Amino acid sequence: MLSPLMEMPVYSRWPLEVARAEGSYLWDRGGRRYLDFYAGHAVAGSGHCHPRVVAAIREQAEKLIFYSSALRSEPRERLLRVLGTLTPPGLTRAFFVNSGAEANEQALALARRRTGRSRVVCFEGAFHGRTLATLVLAGLRPYRASALASAAGEALGAFTRRLPWNDAAAARAGIDEEVAAVIVEPVQGLAGARVASPEFLQALREACDAAGAVLIFDEVQSGCLRCGGLSAGVEMGVQPDLLTLAKGIAAGLPLGAVLATTAVCDGLSTGDLGSTFGGAPIPCAAAAANLAALAEEGRARRALEHGRRLADAMAVMPGVVGVEGRGLLMGVRLDRPVRPVIRALFASGVLTGTSADPDVLRLLPPLVIDDSEIELFLRTLKEVLESSREGQ
Ligand code: PLP
Repeated sequence: MLSPLMEMPVYSRWPLEVARAEGSYLWDRGGRRYLDFYAGHAVAGSGHCHPRVVAAIREQAEKLIFYSSALRSEPRERLLRVLGTLTPPGLTRAFFVNSGAEANEQALALARRRTGRSRVVCFEGAFHGRTLATLVLAGLRPYRASALASAAGEALGAFTRRLPWNDAAAARAGIDEEVAAVIVEPVQGLAGARVASPEFLQALREACDAAGAVLIFDEVQSGCLRCGGLSAGVEMGVQPDLLTLAKGIAAGLPLGAVLATTAVCDGLSTGDLGSTFGGAPIPCAAAAANLAALAEEGRARRALEHGRRLADAMAVMPGVVGVEGRGLLMGVRLDRPVRPVIRALFASGVLTGTSADPDVLRLLPPLVIDDSEIELFLRTLKEVLESSREGQ
């Protein structure tokens, strides 16, 4: 008898089957409502099923579902126009891929090509994806260890240099003329929404300029207006040579982007990069609608305002030791492990995220949350923290 095909057991799953979703809410099959402060992992920036995104997907699906980037594409050109209005000056070229890890791989390839060097500087606490070349850059031990367990990973690992987080002096000392690229998350997501200081980012910029190395901002999680702009790092006053985006770019369709300066792309020609599905019509149509809606609704500024309001309110709650982050990418440090708190929040109808730090709760709500949803979240968190303290 044939055995049934089963998924590999690699995810720990919420006991929740979503029947439908809208804005900041999900509903299960029994009609129970959940407030989503996780957004499918920072993906649903314009919320679930934003009407403009749904219409763009439907219209595009009726015209052309797929053709590769070998052809000109109206939705891709529309996305370039919308993205261009949000892109920091200096970044003049775009290449579309399918995911964050792929965007980072391509950014690293561009940096190696530009410099003729191989060494990559990365940081403690970093996460850049799950391809072999991005896993060896992880500053979180379990991820890196899985890559370094193979000879191939070890060989790639020999070309990486890991530096301490937010240490400008160590960065200046560690970035020399062997270095092709420095890759950094201006807000480290998985590490618990740890924000780079502007001085640290500026030191990276200056050290890269002095060494002739390429500065890559990985904004797969922190980008797309979540932290107040297309790039959190640029909002902090520092320009990268390459910027990578994914997660929140297309409201749930698989799309990533590499944005680059003209100089990085100097001499680039046919065949140097490629991706069958990258920049496909439906994800590009969704991304153009998503980014236009976020921009027109003023979500970047609101993300910063909502983030400040949440941080101020949470900072004085029982059991909260500190709040980190920027905009709506937040890490809430508790005086206890967060897993039971996350389970209690879920039982009360609120979804939140873990981080690599067992005491840090990660919040990545849709950027369309409103004041009443923030109130509901804060009230629920306070109740859960108070009752879990009593139960300690
Ligand atoms: N870079 C950062 C900062 C991320 O947070 C992630 C995913 O969590 C990635 C890269 C990898 O993105 P993807 O899962 O789309 O490959």
